[in-house]
Amino acid sequence: MSKHQFQTEVSQLLDLMIHSLYSNKEIFLRELISNSSDALDKLNYLTLTDEKYKILSYQPRIDIAINKELKTLTLSDNGIGMNEEDLVENLGTIAKSGTKSFLQNLSGDNKKDSSLIGQFGVGFYSAFMVANKIEVISRKALEDKAFMWSSEAGGEYDISETTKESHGTSITLYLKEDELEFLEFFRVQAVIKKYSNHIPFAIFMDKEEKEFDEETKESKSEIKNVQINKASALWTIAKSQIKPDEYKDFYKQISHDSEDPTLWSHTKAEGKFEYTTLFYIPSTPPMDLFRMDYKPGVKLYVKRVFITDDEKELLPTYLRFVKGIIDAEDLPLNVSREILQQNKILDSIKKASVKKILSELKNLKEKDGEKYLAFYKNFGRVLKEGLYGDYENKEALLDLALFKSSKRDGLVSLKEYKEGMGEDQKSIYYITGENERILKNSPLIEQFKAKNIEVLLLDEEVDAIVIPMVGEYDKTPIKPVNNSDIDEEIKEDTTKTEENEKTYKEMLIKMKELLKDDVKDVKISGRLSDSPSCLIYDKNDPDFQMQQMLKQMGQDNLPSVKPILEINPDHEIFTKLMEKNDFSQLQDIAYLLLDQAKLQEGMKIEDISAFAKRLNRFIAKAL
Ligand code: ADP
Repeated sequence: MSKHQFQTEVSQLLDLMIHSLYSNKEIFLRELISNSSDALDKLNYLTLTDEKYKILSYQPRIDIAINKELKTLTLSDNGIGMNEEDLVENLGTIAKSGTKSFLQNLSGDNKKDSSLIGQFGVGFYSAFMVANKIEVISRKALEDKAFMWSSEAGGEYDISETTKESHGTSITLYLKEDELEFLEFFRVQAVIKKYSNHIPFAIFMDKEEKEFDEETKESKSEIKNVQINKASALWTIAKSQIKPDEYKDFYKQISHDSEDPTLWSHTKAEGKFEYTTLFYIPSTPPMDLFRMDYKPGVKLYVKRVFITDDEKELLPTYLRFVKGIIDAEDLPLNVSREILQQNKILDSIKKASVKKILSELKNLKEKDGEKYLAFYKNFGRVLKEGLYGDYENKEALLDLALFKSSKRDGLVSLKEYKEGMGEDQKSIYYITGENERILKNSPLIEQFKAKNIEVLLLDEEVDAIVIPMVGEYDKTPIKPVNNSDIDEEIKEDTTKTEENEKTYKEMLIKMKELLKDDVKDVKISGRLSDSPSCLIYDKNDPDFQMQQMLKQMGQDNLPSVKPILEINPDHEIFTKLMEKNDFSQLQDIAYLLLDQAKLQEGMKIEDISAFAKRLNRFIAKAL
C-alpha cells in the first residue's frame, strides 16, 4: 500500500465539502453517475473505433447497491476504468481550470461558499459531503491489475493493488451518521430519477418487494433487481414529450450548474444533413468564462455515441458559455480531431446552430427584456467578441448588443438609439474610454450634449476593439466622437469657425510650433462648449484606446500616432489671451491645455513634474 498527499487545492476543496452546509447534498449522486456515464461513453467509443477493444463483450450498465449494516452506498460501472496512474491523476489532483481562482474566491463564510460549490460542480469530491470514507476499486479495460484508492479526506489517500473480476469502477461511500437517508431505496431512486433519468445507460438497484401469498396466507419478501431510469438520451425524445423540468434537470446533469438555465433550444434537422441539437443558455457564468483554457460546453455525439466533450470548434468562441449536445447522423464514428476541425457536415451544423442560438436570444430580448438584461450582464461581453470576425452574423450580433448612453440610464440597443435620432443626425456616435464617469464628463461630447445628440459610452475593452471595425448598423454609419471626420456633422457654425481661425491664426501657429513633438496639429474646435481643449484623432488614425488595445495584443512596434489638439475659442482663457495680446506664457498654457485634455481622456502625462511646476507657477500668480 502506498500513501499519497492530495494536491493542496484538493485538500482545500475536501475541507469545504466536509464542513459544508450545502443544502443540496443529493447532487453527489448525479456527479458520480455522470462520471460513470462518461466512463461508459469512452469505452463504448473505443469498442466501436479501436480494433484492440473489439474483443470486449459486455453490456454497459451502472449498479447501485445499498448495505444497511455497513451503512454504505456502492456505485459500480463497467466503463473504461482507471489504473494506478489514472487514480493518482484523477482523484488526487484537480485538472479543471479556474479551480484556483474558485478557491481564492471563497470567503470563509460557509453559507456563501456553499452556494458557490453549486456553480462550480466539484464532481467526484462532492461525495465527501455525505461520506467520511470512500473506497474506489477500479480496473482499466484491457489491463489485468486492479487498484483500490481509499481516503478519509484529511490531506491524504492510499492506493493498493487488489483484484476485480472485470473492467470498470466501483465506488463505495461510507455514509456519515446524519446522511443515512441515502440508505433508503426510495430516496435514492427519487434522486436518480430527478437528475439522471436521461443518461443513456441503465441504472439498476435492488428493490425489496413484498408479496402476499393467498395460499399460505403469509407475506414474503423478494429482492428484485430493477431498472431505475429511462436510459434514453433526452435529446432523442420528441420535444412534445419532454417536460420543462426534464429539460432543466438534464441541463443540471450536463453542466453541473445548480441554477436553472435562461433558455434552451432543441432542434431536429432533417435537411441536407440529419442531426439533433439541444443547446442551453446558462443563467450564471462559469468560472472559466474568461480563461483561454476554458472547458467547452458542447458535447459531440454521432448516432447517440459520445465522441468528445473537448472540442472547442463546435461553436465559435464567443458562444463558449452555451452548454448542450450535438448529435450528428452523417459522420463516421471514428472521426479524428483533424477531420472534425475541417469537416463540411460539422461546419454546416455549426453555422445553423449559431443562427439558431442568436435567434433564440433575439426572441428573449423581444419577449422578456428583464431576463435578457440579466443574461446580457453575464455574457454580453463575450457575445460582443463575435463582432470581431463573425461577419456573417454581424447584424444579428449588433441587434443583441447593448450599450451605456450619454442620454439615458441603463442600457440601450442600436435599434433604440436609431429610433431616438433627430432628423439631421447622420451617424451613430460613440466614445471609448476607461470608465463611464470619464466618458460622461468628457469635453469631447459637450457639443453632443448641447445639441441633445445621444452618444454611446463604451467603457469595456472589447468595445474599443470591435466597435470601430463594425462601420455601420442598418445602413447608418457608426463613428467615434473623437474623429476629425465628424466635425462637419456637429460643428456649430462653419462661418464662425472660419472667422475664429483667422482671429487665432497667429496663436495657433505658435502653439503648434511649441507642441510639435506631441501633437499633429492645433485647431479651432467646433465640439466644445465648456472645456478649453480636447484631443481628437485624424480620420484614419487609431485613437488612444485603440492604440492601447493594439499594444496589449502584442503589437509593440506601432508607429506613434499623435493626436490633434482642439481649442475652444469661446473659452475665457483664449478670449483673455487675445484681449491682452500677451503670448509670453503661451508655452506653459499650451502644455497645460494639452495635459489636461490627456487627463480627461484617461491618458497619462509623460512629464508629470513639468506639469506640476507649470501648474504651481499659475497658482502662485493667481494668489
Ligand atoms: P470531472 O468528471 O468533472 O472531470 P471528477 O472529479 O468528477 O471531475 O472526476 C475526475 C476524473 O476522474 C474524471 O475526469 C475521470 O477521468 C475520472 N473518473 C471519475 N469517475 C470515474 C469512473 N467511474 N470511471 C472512470 N473514470 C472516472
